[in-house]
Amino acid sequence: MDKKTIRDLEVTEKKVLVRVDFNVPLKDGKILNDTRMLKVLPTIKYLQEQRAKIILMTHLGRPKGTVVPEMSTKPLALRLSGLLEQEVLFAADCGGAESHKITREMRAGQVALLENLRFYPEEEENDPAFAKSLAALGDVYVNDAFGSAHRAHASTEGVTQYLPAVAGFLMEKEIYVLSQTLENPRHPFVVILGGAKVADKLFVIENLLKRADYLLIGGAMANTFLKAQGYDLGISKVETDKLALAEQLLEQAQKVRVKVVLPQDVVVAKEFAAEAEAKVVSVQDIPKEMMALDIGTATVQAFEQVIAQARMIVWNGPLGVYEFAQFAVGTNKIVEAVAAAPGKVVVGGGDVVAAVEKTGLGAKIYHISTGGGASLEFLGGKVLPGVAALLDK
Ligand code: ADP
Ligand code: MG
Repeated sequence: MDKKTIRDLEVTEKKVLVRVDFNVPLKDGKILNDTRMLKVLPTIKYLQEQRAKIILMTHLGRPKGTVVPEMSTKPLALRLSGLLEQEVLFAADCGGAESHKITREMRAGQVALLENLRFYPEEEENDPAFAKSLAALGDVYVNDAFGSAHRAHASTEGVTQYLPAVAGFLMEKEIYVLSQTLENPRHPFVVILGGAKVADKLFVIENLLKRADYLLIGGAMANTFLKAQGYDLGISKVETDKLALAEQLLEQAQKVRVKVVLPQDVVVAKEFAAEAEAKVVSVQDIPKEMMALDIGTATVQAFEQVIAQARMIVWNGPLGVYEFAQFAVGTNKIVEAVAAAPGKVVVGGGDVVAAVEKTGLGAKIYHISTGGGASLEFLGGKVLPGVAALLDK
């Protein structure tokens, strides 16, 4: 997938409308983590060097089409101004009178940020008139918000009807790396899947079965597969309406000779709680009144062996309830294993990325995707509307 990028466009003295994903965690007006902002700095700095006029727009939280003052992007303008060491203008609307006035008067190299796109119901409705009013702010459009690319919204898709649309550097890297895993994976190619949302992820397994050599399954995801194989899971989280599909996928894997490694042991407890009393049991011996909350030690070792030989690894979803230290052990061990592995490692998914970042080993990983849902849909072979809408090379 080759999309035009900001390098392919003349941007000097032009008004460049850039969709970013500054959807940072906020508490009482304070930004708890600005990673998402840092990731877009290369694009902003490049545009500054090219002496463009840079107009940034993002969503923040879920205000659901109304003005929620606590979700204003104004504090983000302030933080960005600190990061860039220069003033960042703030426009209190999106395509209205104020943003038009501010952007009209901008000088080359200046940066402005618009108010929260999701204060307008038209954003998520992909309303053409709203998209057109956004487009009227710029001469060209850049999408650097991979995390929002799976949504056809006015700022990700609608706007591209009216302006030449290209990828920013973050978007470019995400597309490049994720395409590599689908189009040209190195073998052995190992896919690790965990997390909770089996129903949402089965299509990803289906797509990756065509390419992978190994599929390692943990987390609540594994419970459904184990149940499909006839094990008694006690009171574990199981998606009972997906058992038939899980069984089909296991059969399919066998047909195409993908080795599926399911947990052979799990950490169980009587309740879903940080302090619950826990023990490791083999999957044949899960007590009726207990639930599986992490992969066990033998499973960790089995996973480690496969990971050590891998030349490419894709990982989505934590392997246990990593929010509780006691049930984060399996996930953490596998983070260590992939960080030490010789192969290229790509990690995607809101929770698994949080789990990796908690360990402090993020820097040892080839690519940590900024898109949870977007990376999943990409790996599942779906066309992302925000990517499809960009100009081809
Ligand atoms: P990601 O965001 O990485 O795609 P998901 O959102 O699918 O991952 O799943 C993350 C959630 O799965 C976490 O909140 C975690 O506690 C939960 N989880 C993982 N393993 C289990 C398990 N064995 N039982 C219940 N919940 C689990
Ligand atoms: Mg999640």
